[in-house]
Amino acid sequence: TPTPVITIDGPSGSGKGTVSRILAEKMGWHLLDSGAIYRVLALAALHHNFSEADEESLVTLAAHLDVKFEAQEDDGLTHIILEGEDVTMTIRTEKVGNMASKVAALPRVREALLRRQRGFKDLPGLVADGRDMGTVVFPEADAKIFLTASAQERAQRRYKQLLEKGFDANIDQLITEIQERDERDTSRSVAPLKPADDALYIDSTELSIDQVVEDILTFAHSKL
Ligand code: C5P
Repeated sequence: TPTPVITIDGPSGSGKGTVSRILAEKMGWHLLDSGAIYRVLALAALHHNFSEADEESLVTLAAHLDVKFEAQEDDGLTHIILEGEDVTMTIRTEKVGNMASKVAALPRVREALLRRQRGFKDLPGLVADGRDMGTVVFPEADAKIFLTASAQERAQRRYKQLLEKGFDANIDQLITEIQERDERDTSRSVAPLKPADDALYIDSTELSIDQVVEDILTFAHSKL
């Protein structure tokens, strides 16, 4: 039996992380948080003092990245382990996110991470969350979603999230960073952030998480 795939692409703060997690839970499917892979690579690069200009080193690092995703019973979270170290929290900082978007602009780095991402496709099904899930990594996906929201709204959500996690945050700085990251993600030459031709486009600015999940489930069931 072929493995069904639902892809959810969009900018950060669109709600796609939360929506993907809920969907995977409801369907009983695997979840690929592809952004986490880019973040782990970025963190490893920062540890090694590599800059985004060190393409050769970054490609090698990407090819050999020792990262594991482990479901943990006690808190119900998927923990992310880099070379034996739990980096679940440390990869979520703005610093790591910004570095992730820089290393993600390198074609050979993306290439080096392709097979690893495709490896998540397994029965009974996969929900894949990212920027190029429907366009590059899983072009054969059964249902493709492009989820977005206004930059202002996404900055607000990110602000709330950071405060809840105990990080310090500045709303104006967040808006600027989100716009810069959007610009870098949409204008890069390889796998730019854009909706697949056959994607359902959802603007979540005025929608609750539940409404978005509902819309995606209806769409996915019509496609599966
Ligand atoms: O989604 P998240 O904010 O965790 O992603 C961090 C960065 O990784 C994004 O800004 C983007 O540049 C990059 N990314 C990507 N392709 C993906 C997922 C993330 O280029 N499929």
